[in-house]
Amino acid sequence: PTLPQGSQLLPMDSSDEEGEEYLFKIVIIGDSAVGKSNLLSRYARNEFNPHSKATIGVEFQTQSLEIDGKEVKAQIWDTAGQERFRAVTSAYYRGAFGALLVYDISRRTTFESIPRWLDELKTHSDTTVARMLVGNKCDLENIRSVSVEEGKSLAESEGLFFMETSALDSTNVITAFEMVIREIYNNVSRKVL
Ligand code: GDP
Repeated sequence: PTLPQGSQLLPMDSSDEEGEEYLFKIVIIGDSAVGKSNLLSRYARNEFNPHSKATIGVEFQTQSLEIDGKEVKAQIWDTAGQERFRAVTSAYYRGAFGALLVYDISRRTTFESIPRWLDELKTHSDTTVARMLVGNKCDLENIRSVSVEEGKSLAESEGLFFMETSALDSTNVITAFEMVIREIYNNVSRKVL
């Protein structure tokens, strides 16, 4: 795919006061099949796909949110996490202001991978990144293998936001993305002011 430029750090069009716009890039990372694509499709299109195939290459969706009367756009990227796409890894992370680090609460190995995803993010990111740890598939309570406390505790020790979500039943999906977008906005406006 053609890789668009990384996020433009604000504002996109400062000449037009009323139409002030911000565009931020956010990446979704985590092991295969934790639900990255479905979190994005739930957030961007309110769709869930029970038989989704692994994403090939990279795709992104743009979502808008109004904060302080300004239009804040998030360009959300999914996913260069597979080994065969290593060639685009640095382009994937370049310019990202936010990241969702996703594991599947029913598969412990996906939680154990999170420190590696954090390392990768640190290695490739070129700015302050608003990071959220996301325990997805919280609808699968009966086969849970990572407790809420474990998620919280990892998030606290790494300085991440934390939320459990379900792309299937929509629990916390909008909240998770919007928290990250608001945090980026706050980070950026603090620096600018
Ligand atoms: P990705 O490889 O991380 O992008 O994962 P996908 O979004 O392709 O999802 C992998 C599989 O998990 C698919 O079969 C999805 O239908 C399923 N899945 C995704 N999110 C959820 C969820 O919140 N709950 C449940 N039960 N299944 C989910």
